[in-house]
Amino acid sequence: MFDFRSDTLTQPTDEMFKIMQEASRGDDVYGEDDSVRQLEAHVARLTGHEAGLFCASGTMTNQLAFRASLLTPPASVLCDKRSHVYRYEAGGLAAHSSLTVYPVRADTNHGHHITVRDIEQEFVVDDGDAHMAPTRLISLENTLDGTVMPLKEVQAIGRFARENKVLLHLDGARIWNAAIAQGCDLKELTKEFNSVSLCVSKGIGAPIGSVLVGSTELIKKARHFRKMFGGGWRQAGGLAAVAHWCIDHVWPTMRETHELAKYLAHGLETFGGGAKIYIPVETNMVFMDLAGSGIRLSELSRRLEEKGIKIGNKDAPETQTQVRLVLHWQINRKAVDDFVAVVKDMASKATSSATTGAPPNQKVYGSHLTSYDRK
Ligand SMILES: *Cc1c(COP(=O)(O)O)cnc(C)c1O
Repeated sequence: MFDFRSDTLTQPTDEMFKIMQEASRGDDVYGEDDSVRQLEAHVARLTGHEAGLFCASGTMTNQLAFRASLLTPPASVLCDKRSHVYRYEAGGLAAHSSLTVYPVRADTNHGHHITVRDIEQEFVVDDGDAHMAPTRLISLENTLDGTVMPLKEVQAIGRFARENKVLLHLDGARIWNAAIAQGCDLKELTKEFNSVSLCVSKGIGAPIGSVLVGSTELIKKARHFRKMFGGGWRQAGGLAAVAHWCIDHVWPTMRETHELAKYLAHGLETFGGGAKIYIPVETNMVFMDLAGSGIRLSELSRRLEEKGIKIGNKDAPETQTQVRLVLHWQINRKAVDDFVAVVKDMASKATSSATTGAPPNQKVYGSHLTSYDRK
């Protein structure tokens, strides 16, 4: 099966299980596992930060970053209103760190990414006003919906954060994709930040885990809170070793994955009978709107499954026309060709009267999908 639902759905290979067998078998809570320490140092080096902490999930590395950075309420955080840390971490910022979030709309750039100007609109100055929870941290997400935040904007927001003496966190679950798409060193994209969370379980292809990087002091605090949250793990060496291997071996294949995503998008627009790609394809995600094509999402899902392709949404209501497709290293060109062939065949048989759903070519990014679709 080729699974287009998410890049979390890559499967560990036999080779990966061999890597796990060869990993060290120490206790990480005791700080005694070599494979874990090597992975943490490797990612810290790649990102130009002092230290790293290997954890079970990206939600945990994000949440630890906030908890370890901001110890005293009242405080608030600014982030894009579509951010994972705000929408898809089960309200963790309020629960773990007593934080209020001021969501920022990406107004000045037609929804592509938030800018310093958007951030200024929501920034809460610490002027002693007892009504307010001052902004203490700005959190950025890169990539977001598969789009890359321009380096210049990251740098401008970095300057703004320093001038205003607030911290800067990066939810870099897919920062690996951003670095490949921009053809730049990972360090360029991570050096503005006090903390960075990087997932190894997404496009990097590892079975489990995320790494938090930051200063030695911050990581020490994060390690403390991780234990408090119940996330201290023991013989995690196998997972660390396989994550390390995936960074070295799967990450270099990401450029091809991005090219395949563009190839898929082009095929869908060319042969989809009016199907539209409504978010620019900059990395591994393709957002397709079937409105206007006469193709029903649930039927497309069933037809693709016959070809060994999964996109979810088999029970999608007739009104749902939008779907996110995610490419990763275990999807090949043949699967993409098969995908386009199915769409082409369905489009050629669809009658215009079968058109469903909302008008095509919606300009609004982001807020259209359910939380499940964005995982
Ligand atoms: C996947 C993801 C996370 C973390 O998710 P986990 O399932 O907790 O590992 C965080 N941020 C973004 C943008 C993500 O896509």
